[in-house]
Amino acid sequence: MKVLDAKFVTSAPRAGALPPAELPEAAFVGRSNVGKSSLIAALTGRKKLVRISRRPGCTQMINLFSVRTDAGPLALVDLPGYGYAEAPAEERRRWGPLITSYLRNRTSLCLVVALFDPRRALGDDDRGLIEMLADFGRPTVVVATKVDKLPKSKRKPAVSTIAAASGFDALPFSAKTGEGADDLWHVIGRACGIV
Ligand code: GDP
Repeated sequence: MKVLDAKFVTSAPRAGALPPAELPEAAFVGRSNVGKSSLIAALTGRKKLVRISRRPGCTQMINLFSVRTDAGPLALVDLPGYGYAEAPAEERRRWGPLITSYLRNRTSLCLVVALFDPRRALGDDDRGLIEMLADFGRPTVVVATKVDKLPKSKRKPAVSTIAAASGFDALPFSAKTGEGADDLWHVIGRACGIV
């Protein structure tokens, strides 16, 4: 799949404030610093796209992008990260309800892409996310990020470990080398019904 155009649409403080669901949608979620912005930038080939949504005060916002591909249009959603060491307790408390409300209510959601850094052991909050995704039963794929940082021989085992720990299919990805981008686009395109 080839990206023809990608645009930032809006930031919303909660799922109910998003514009009506018009396009099939894939949403990205993960711990802060897991490589979510880099992955979205690499997938769309638009570095500036994600920079807009990273303005100060916007890290707890849901960011909506519209993407035109050669297979058809879709929406990408950048969900707020978790695990910010410096985040106020109040902000941390809001994260769970924000994500559950999005997962429960967003009718156009076709795929959740959950990102994990394979060099880190899963923490309680990572397990909480996996449990939440399993509970909601939305189609989900797990992505092991920054795999260029692992020796080649350790990449497959690392991806298998994440797949086993999460119970979801897992793919390797590197924003630095582009590894995994075609495969992830294919999974997104299929889930969104455009390929
Ligand atoms: P976010 O907080 O999840 O949006 O994470 P970022 O995309 O900002 O990435 C966090 C850090 O990891 C940055 O310093 C990135 O340059 C780095 N990073 C992200 N993806 C990759 C990758 O695929 N390979 C390598 N080597 N570094 C990466």
